[in-house]
Amino acid sequence: MSNLNLIDSHAHLDFKDFVNDQTDTIQRAREVGVTRIINIGTSLTSSQQAIELAQKYPAVYAAVGIHPHDSNEVNHEILTKLKLLSQQPKVVAIGEIGLDYFKMYQPVDIQERAFQRQLELALELKLPVVIHTRAAESATIEMLKSIQSTDWQGVFHCFPGDVALAQQVLDLGFHISYTGVITFKNSTAGEVIRYIPLDRLLVETDCPFMTPVPHRGKRNEPAYVYFVAQKIAEIKQISLEQVAEVTTGNVERLFGIRE
Ligand SMILES: [Zn+2]
Repeated sequence: MSNLNLIDSHAHLDFKDFVNDQTDTIQRAREVGVTRIINIGTSLTSSQQAIELAQKYPAVYAAVGIHPHDSNEVNHEILTKLKLLSQQPKVVAIGEIGLDYFKMYQPVDIQERAFQRQLELALELKLPVVIHTRAAESATIEMLKSIQSTDWQGVFHCFPGDVALAQQVLDLGFHISYTGVITFKNSTAGEVIRYIPLDRLLVETDCPFMTPVPHRGKRNEPAYVYFVAQKIAEIKQISLEQVAEVTTGNVERLFGIRE
């Protein structure tokens, strides 16, 4: 057992990639010091499965929401169901929600409406949001500004931006989270990570995707958030223990969870 206390703030253990070894995967995470995992919903079904995982495993918490890829699902009925799901124990956020103009699986107007309605739902429920943005950074910022809330709580996950975008995101009150992508040789995130105050940083795997070096090319899993934290420690020139302690405190405060 490790003395570290890390949290994987963004995982998808409900995806079919983990169907045969969910329990072992959570145990492997525990052994390297990943004590908790936030499992993020991407559709109504995935959100329900996230809650089931949280009920089954003490280490797992759930977020419920509809991903931009599935934003055509969002209507009044689904929003009502999400609201009901959000009342379940261990549901700590609305997400993942956002805009993805890179894959563009749904038209812009459908994505924007789904994003807006789920942002409004999160504000109504006083829950933080987990935001996915890809090739849609300025539209995402504009949407947040147009809602004109001063109460934003949440995280931009798998952060794709430069220092200028980080500054806007921080000014709005959000946290910023990084995946294994920062361990890749061609990553340019170092400058941005040096800029972001440690008390606004989160680490995540986004597993089964975004596998860090030295496991790049294989399936990702929560244990590997260790390598993301290690990279942040190297960039910020502080200890791994310090990164673990501060980022874990950040997740606990943001999502209102305690050991
Ligand atoms: Zn994700």
